[in-house]
Amino acid sequence: MRPIEHCELCKAPTGKAGRGEDSLYAADGTPAEIGPLCSDCYETLTHESELETLRAELLDATGMLKDIGDFAHERSAGPAVPDDLWEVRRMAYSAL
Ligand SMILES: [Zn+2]
Repeated sequence: MRPIEHCELCKAPTGKAGRGEDSLYAADGTPAEIGPLCSDCYETLTHESELETLRAELLDATGMLKDIGDFAHERSAGPAVPDDLWEVRRMAYSAL
């Protein structure tokens, strides 16, 4: 039977099976590596949920920019006759 793995930071049992299994390490494989960690300490150290939220928000914003660019593209007289919509299109697409 394996020894119970304890969190490097708070010493609570991690409930994980060990390195190479499902143990959590922050900055894995770097000189700053720390672990094994419990899920709470891992979350705190890596801000994983905040990053997930930011990734989702970035994806939403990117999708909106593409929609704005597409909207302007379809209604513009550009590039033959550059108009304000053509400029909106350029601005939206340049941010993608
Ligand atoms: Zn911990």
